Amino acid sequence: MRALVVSGQWSPKQGYHLSEDERLGKFARCGSQAWKNTVFEIKDVPTPDPKDDEVLIRVKMCGICGSDVHLHEIDKEGYILFSGQTKLPRIIGHEFSGIVEKTGNRVSNLKKGDKVAAESIMWCGICHACLSGAPNQCNRVELLGLSVDGALAEYVSIKEKYCWNINGLSSAYDEGGVFDAGALIEPIGCAYNGIFISAGGFNPGATAVVYGAGPIGLGAVALLRICGASLIIVFDQINERLQIAKDMGADYTFNILKMNNSGLGDKVMELTGRMGADIQVEAAGAAHATIPEMEKSLSGRGKIIYLGRSATTTPVNLDTFVSGANAIFGARGHSGYGIYPNIIKLMASGRLKPGAMITAKYPFNSVLDAFKASIRRTDGKILIEMT
Ligand SMILES: [Zn+2]
Ligand SMILES: [Zn+2]
Repeated sequence: MRALVVSGQWSPKQGYHLSEDERLGKFARCGSQAWKNTVFEIKDVPTPDPKDDEVLIRVKMCGICGSDVHLHEIDKEGYILFSGQTKLPRIIGHEFSGIVEKTGNRVSNLKKGDKVAAESIMWCGICHACLSGAPNQCNRVELLGLSVDGALAEYVSIKEKYCWNINGLSSAYDEGGVFDAGALIEPIGCAYNGIFISAGGFNPGATAVVYGAGPIGLGAVALLRICGASLIIVFDQINERLQIAKDMGADYTFNILKMNNSGLGDKVMELTGRMGADIQVEAAGAAHATIPEMEKSLSGRGKIIYLGRSATTTPVNLDTFVSGANAIFGARGHSGYGIYPNIIKLMASGRLKPGAMITAKYPFNSVLDAFKASIRRTDGKILIEMT
C-alpha cells in the first residue's frame, strides 16, 4: 500500500536526559529534543495485517494536524518543532475516518463495511491513570501517527477499542460528508475535552473568548455556540481563519496584528460591559502573550482553558486568581468521558456543523503540496482524500 512515511535523524540534544525506555526504544517523549532533519516521502509499504483485537481500516479522509506540520518544520539547528512523543520512521496522520475492511478474531462490535473514526490517544487501559478514569493521562500512552503508524496511508490497522462507529452520521451527511465530518471528531474532541471535561463546562449565557482560530480553536467556537455561550470573541492573526470563526458562530473577530498585539484584554472588557469573560480558551500556544491579556479580562470565577502547546514558562499574577476565584485548566486528548459519542450525536443531529472548518482537500498524491500549504497557516482544516 502507499503511505506517507516520515523519517529523521536520531540526535538527542546534549542536556536532554533520555530515560532508559526512551534510549532502548529509540523514541523521545519530547520529539524536538531528539529528532532532526525529517524527510517526508510517499512509499510503498506492506499492508498491515490486523491482530486479534484490531480492525483493518481503509482510510477515506485524513486531516493534517498542527503536530504533523511541526514534524515538517525544523528550527535553526535542524530539530523538529513537535514537542510530543515521537518515534521515527513513522507513517503519520491521526485525524481520520474510513471503512472497516477486515476484523481480527476477537473483534466483536465492528464488522466489515462499518464507517469508523478513531481516537489517536492510544491509552493502555491498565496503568494507574487509565484505571483511575483518566485515559488522556495514560502513563504508557502511544500516539497514533506519531509514536505508532498512522492513517496517511491506504490502510491502517488499529485496536477496536479506539474505534467509533460513525454510520449514524449518514442522517446528516451524504457519503462524502460522513467521512469529512468523521475526520474532524478528533480535533473537535480536544476542544470538548478542555471546555467540558477538564474545566467542567459553563452555564448557558456565559461569555467566551478564543485565542487562536486554528482547527482546535474553531472547534471550540462551534461548541461554545451550540452549547449556549451568549458572546464569543475570537483573536487570531490571519484574516482567513477569522472569517471561518465568524462562519462557525463567533460574534466578534479581531486580527491582533491590526491591534499591534496589545489591548486584547481591554477589548474583551469593553465587549463584556467591563464584566470580563467567563471562559477563555487558549488554542494559540502563545501563553506569554495571551495569559496576561486573559488575566486582565477574566470574570469572577472565570476559567482559562489552556489547549495550546508551548515549551516555555509564563509568569502569572496569582493575585487575580485568589481574588477572582479563577482557574486555569490544562487538557490533552479526546478519549473517554463520552467525548467521541457525544460529538458523533451532535454531528448526526445536524446541530454541530463542522463543514466550514474544511478549507482545502488534496488527493493523497499531492500530500506534500498540502504540507507546504499548511505551513502558510491560512487554512482551517486541510483534508487528504484517500481514494
Ligand atoms: Zn492532532
Ligand atoms: Zn494507561
